[in-house]
Amino acid sequence: MQKCSICRKETKTWAWQPDLESFYLPGNHIRGFAAIAVGDQCKGKIDNKEVVNFTHKKQRFQSNGNGWELI
Ligand SMILES: [Zn+2]
Repeated sequence: MQKCSICRKETKTWAWQPDLESFYLPGNHIRGFAAIAVGDQCKGKIDNKEVVNFTHKKQRFQSNGNGWELI
């Protein structure tokens, strides 16, 4: 199973789409927008607008609950 892109420990249970501020079940995300694999615990951090760092296309990004950017 694919791992969470934030903590790299828990199993992916959601496809997070930061541009849409939405979570989808894996495979049901919206095409054309970045989809980040995340688990339940890290989804909770995002829901709480906590700062999270994650890997996407082999680069590191940060989200602060208001957009996301390369770090
Ligand atoms: Zn996680």
